[in-house]
Order: sequence, then structure tokens, then C-alpha cells
Amino acid sequence: MTTAVREVSVFGDGITYFNEAADLLELDSGMRRILTHPSRQIIFSIPFQRDTGEFEVYTGYRVQYNFARGPAKGGIRYHPGVTLDEVTALAFWMTWKCAVVDLPFGGGKGGVTCDPSTLSANELERITRRYAAELVEVVGPDKDVPAPDVNTTPQVMAWFMDTYSMHVRQNMPGVVTGKPLEIGGSRGRVEATGRGVTICALDEMAQLGIAPERASVVIQGFGNVGMYAAKLFAERGCKVKGISDVTGAYYNENGIDVLAAMEHTRLYHNLEGFKGGDKISNAELLTTECDVLVPAALEKVFTAENAPKVKAKLIVEGANGPTTPEADRIFRQNGIVVIPDIMANAGGVTVSYFEWVQDRMGYFWKESEVNERLEDLLLANLGELRAIKNSHNATLRTAAYTLAIDRVVKALKLRGIYA
Ligand code: NAD
Repeated sequence: MTTAVREVSVFGDGITYFNEAADLLELDSGMRRILTHPSRQIIFSIPFQRDTGEFEVYTGYRVQYNFARGPAKGGIRYHPGVTLDEVTALAFWMTWKCAVVDLPFGGGKGGVTCDPSTLSANELERITRRYAAELVEVVGPDKDVPAPDVNTTPQVMAWFMDTYSMHVRQNMPGVVTGKPLEIGGSRGRVEATGRGVTICALDEMAQLGIAPERASVVIQGFGNVGMYAAKLFAERGCKVKGISDVTGAYYNENGIDVLAAMEHTRLYHNLEGFKGGDKISNAELLTTECDVLVPAALEKVFTAENAPKVKAKLIVEGANGPTTPEADRIFRQNGIVVIPDIMANAGGVTVSYFEWVQDRMGYFWKESEVNERLEDLLLANLGELRAIKNSHNATLRTAAYTLAIDRVVKALKLRGIYA
């Protein structure tokens, strides 16, 4: 891939952040070359039959970025914007995310370029089964373990696990995480990413002297991550002033009733028609005055254009890749602290790891045990990031990449490079 392509791509944003940390680590050029190339990229066609009987063909992807620390691990995204570049970037980030919280996984990601809002449940099931069947040889509990991401749900994971199990002729719950509880899911997994966002945010707020009960929070995206982050912020006494989804943004100076917004979403599948706040544009929401801003939708939300107008004190990246490198520089100049995606949203993969462990043992933990282990693991590694940040006068993002790259490089060197 040329530099020109990387400059405009999502993967390119990731490479920019990687290079800053690689410089700090004085990583040699050979190691940089290895770590900026995905191990494996798979593209395939997914023919499927519409309920009308008509055939269509979608494109599926799975990128297994790195295996140095263990099997690949990462979600599956169903979205019209899915491309090889995006899936590669997401698999790249998974590599560093798993390393930053010290999980025994490499990085992977997958996706299907499709618009799930136009698909019936039966069509979604057929696409998922064909997607899983195409990957039978390369996924598995010790090879690559998918999970939910944008527009994929516990039900989608159940279909994936069932298809894989049918092909290998044995029950294999550990092939995916984020499954329903009844078939080997973990307690606490559904809320885990939002919970992790809140744990990291509250810890950093304490550093910045922002008391939760006086803090205002704005959240972009009201899906799995945004919704549970909003709920947990509200439970901790924070005022969630603004939320949004694809239908628009909703603002209430006195605080959104998060449970009412969740109920609205459960009934109508999105926030359209939600009466608990004034409707504003998604662009306005991002520049609203607040203490904590959580992007929890898609990539490239903060750019050189809108970053100067952002008024938050702390940005906690629930989504992957929401900040372009240009916006990141502006946040640094303006003194806005950013908890980077690879740390802030690592709660999801951490509880996915717990799910994988529980599936392999066939023994399931109490929710309180899951949540306690999650908090311990996130805070211990956030503490390590802060130590690197302080000793190198770096940002939390560069510190996170530094910690993660160092862990992956150590694993690679110990194993030796088969070249
Ligand atoms: P989701 O499909 O459950 O929700 C996505 C939300 O974003 C929806 O509310 C959608 O309407 C909204 N959205 C989409 N485009 C938007 C826009 N332009 N403006 C405002 N809102 C918009 O997905 P999710 O699982 O919550 O994932 C969200 C982000 O978090 C993604 O970047 C994903 O990679 C990341 N993430 C998810 C997990 C997980 O466990 N689900 C873990 C780590 C990171």
C-alpha cells in the first residue's frame, strides 16, 4: 500500500499513530515493516437469497492482522461503508487493543458490506451463515475468535457459532464471543464496552478533578456502546445532556432520561421521535459545551474542521478511530485530554476474553465477578499508560500504542520471526 493511499484511509490514521509510538520506542525499520502489514486478508462473495426468491451477492471480509500473542480476535461489522481498508484498520487496532490490556490474543476484524436496515431477520441469518461457512477453515477458538461490532448482535453470534459447530461436527461455543447467555455467553458482556468506557472516564475525571455529580456528558451513537455508557454515567450521578444516533441528536440541559431513551430505542429501533430532549444536528452535538464527550458511532468523526470547535475537557473514544490525526493535534494544542479507543473501548474485548475462558472451562462466573475483574484489569493497564505518558511527556494515545507495540514486539522476538 502506498503512502498516498494511506494518507486518506482509515488504516492510514492508524499508521500515523503507530509511527509516533514506534519513534518513541526507537523501533527498527524491519519490525515497523512487519507490524504495518496484516498477516492475512480474506475477501469473498456472499451469495444469498432474498425472501422474494431473488439472488444477490454481497462482499465479505476477514482480516487477521497479527497472531504474535495468540489467536486473532475482533468483531464483525455489517454496514454499507465496510471496505477492506476499514476492516484492516479495525483489525490493526484490535492487535494493539488486546495488547494494551494484556489479553492473550492477536488482532482481527471482519465485515460484510450491506445495509442491515433493508434486510429481514431471515435474510440476515442466511448472510451470517454463509459468511461463517466461508471462514470455517480459518476461524476457531485457537485461530480467530469473532465478536459483535456495528449492527451485529448476540443473535448474529449465535447463528455464526451454530454454523461453525455444524461444519466441524461438535459444539464450539468458544469460536465467537458476545453470544446469548443460554448458549455460552458471559454475564456482563452486553454492557462491557460501555462499562469500560465509563470506568476509564471516571478514573481520568478523578485525575482532572471533575466530580461525577457535577459532570456533564455528551454521547454520539446510541447503540451497544453508547447506550450502556450513558446508563452507567447516569447511575454514577453524571448529567447526560446529549445523545444521538443516525436519526439525529437530542439535547436536554437538565439531563436526558437515559432509561426512557433506551426504552424508546427498544420499541422503535432508533431515537426518531424521542421526546426527552430538543432535536439538534449531529454536528452541533459534537461541539456542545460539556465535560466529557464520548464518540460511540463510527470512524473519522473529529476532523480538522470540527476539532477546533470541540469544547469538552475529556474525550473518551468509545468508537474505534473517531479522531483523525489532524484533529488529535488540535485537541493536544487545546489541552483536551483524549482516552484513546484502544484503551477506552477495551472493556468489550476484555469480557469477550472472559467469555472465551468460561466457554473453555464450561464454568460460568457471576456478573459481579466479571465486572470486578474487568475493572481491575482496565485500571491496572490505564495506570501503566499514565506512567508512560508521564515519563515520556506523551499523550495517552501515544502511551497506549507504546505499551501495546512493546508487548507485541516482545512476543514476536521471543517466538522468533519465521522469515
Ligand atoms: P451499534 O450498531 O450497536 O451502534 C452504533 C450507533 O451509532 C447506533 O446508534 C447508530 O445509529 C449510531 N450512528 C451511526 N452513524 C452515526 C452518525 N453519523 N451520527 C450519530 N450516530 C450514528 O454499534 P456498537 O457496537 O455500539 O459500536 C459503536 C462503535 O464502538 C464502533 O466504532 C465499534 O467498532 C466500537 N466498538 C464496539 C464494541 C462492542 O462491543 N460492540 C467494542 C469495542 C468498540
